[in-house]
Amino acid sequence: MRPDVLETLVSLAKRRGFVFQSSEIYGGTGSVWDYGPLGVELKNNIKQRWWNAMVRERDDVEGLDAAILMHPKVWEASGHVSGFSDPLVDCKACKARFRADKLADAQCPRKPSKKPGEHADCQLTEPRQFNLMFKTFMGPVEDSAAVVYLRPETAQGIFVNFLNVQQATRQKVPFGIAQIGKAFRNEITPGNFTFRTREFEQMEMQFFVEPGTDMEHFERWKQARLDWHLGLGLDRDRLEFHQHSDKELAHYARAAFDINFDFGGSLGFQEIEGVHNRSDFDLTQHQQFSSKKLEYVDQANNKRYVPYVIETSVGADRVTLAVMVNALREEAVPGEQEGRTVLGFHPALSPIKAGVFPLTKKDGQPEMAEKLAATIRKKFTVFYDEAGAIGRRYRRQDEAGTPFGITIDGDSTANHDVTIRFRDDMGQIRVSADKVVEVLAKYLEADHRTADSKLVG
Ligand code: ATP
Repeated sequence: MRPDVLETLVSLAKRRGFVFQSSEIYGGTGSVWDYGPLGVELKNNIKQRWWNAMVRERDDVEGLDAAILMHPKVWEASGHVSGFSDPLVDCKACKARFRADKLADAQCPRKPSKKPGEHADCQLTEPRQFNLMFKTFMGPVEDSAAVVYLRPETAQGIFVNFLNVQQATRQKVPFGIAQIGKAFRNEITPGNFTFRTREFEQMEMQFFVEPGTDMEHFERWKQARLDWHLGLGLDRDRLEFHQHSDKELAHYARAAFDINFDFGGSLGFQEIEGVHNRSDFDLTQHQQFSSKKLEYVDQANNKRYVPYVIETSVGADRVTLAVMVNALREEAVPGEQEGRTVLGFHPALSPIKAGVFPLTKKDGQPEMAEKLAATIRKKFTVFYDEAGAIGRRYRRQDEAGTPFGITIDGDSTANHDVTIRFRDDMGQIRVSADKVVEVLAKYLEADHRTADSKLVG
């Protein structure tokens, strides 16, 4: 079993400004988190990578940004009003609530630590269905006619816009629509840091195909999505497919695989993405509830049909957490007493690309360093730091996951060259100050997964 690093990560994330608890000064909001300066850069880099892979680099997928609030009938058609619920049990003794299907993994809040039902006076109720959608009201009147929901998934915005996008772009089936956006679920037992939260972000793509060709597209997307996660630098042996059994499969689904990542500790392998063959269920439902035809007309072959949908659905927060867990390491440093903590991100994902450090605060070093930092900043995120011992400044950037440290020393001002120190092997190369941007750009373009001096071409 891989070690549980969540506790270490939660404190590192707060200390360095990756993730803060929401409304912390008021005691926090239940399982809602805020991304700090480093976290927002990291998550944006991941979202950007997804958008590039799914939309920009393809000519058969279009982008969309649909609204969070939708017509309430959408959620009747999609089955969320009647069926998007988890079985809930209450304990009348301690007032805690648990998911009935996850009792074995749950913890009674009372001491000594036991599972729900194991204390002598536990009084668990019969399970009842609890709908996970957040409800609110549209307009000034709070009555049932004004009820709207915060979307529990982004997918429905894509389904209801299927024909709008197809007609506007003149795409031909097979083609897809992708979007990134917030989703909200009133989870009964959120937790494990940002793994399960009540407000989160999804990156979803629905690929519309001709019925009968669906399984071939399904297999292709399954592989493409695994490859994307590998491209983020997630270790191959931490990733696995989990095939949904007949019992897990939704009634309309023809096949479903989760991509699971090993978070370590007791959490272990958990879903980070779902790849689903949803048949024509969603479009058919919307056709029925809206009384609008949602057919694709294949003029070349004189056919019309409701397409099948292959869906890929990944949580931006969950994959960001996986990237952090995968990257975190604590290691000894040869020749030094103190070890170091490193977030060994894929350099393309690192929030800060370069730390710039004058070795001392004199002899023109800060001036040269500031000038160099300003030049690099035009292309990459930079952190300028002139305070404290150089070793400590390197360590701080190791913890932030910064791949390159650029040091200006006594020789730099005379020879106009600098040292680039690489985060992972701590190797150093000496380059002309004029070449720094070029060297970093070339390294980042090569898409190396580590920051290693031996990989400089
Ligand atoms: P789970 O079984 O973990 O509740 P799910 O099967 O309901 O997840 P989907 O509806 O398939 O999840 O959502 C797709 C993706 O959205 C998940 O793989 C996950 O990455 C993300 N996701 C879903 N619920 C949450 C949540 N509460 N917090 C963070 N991410 C979530």
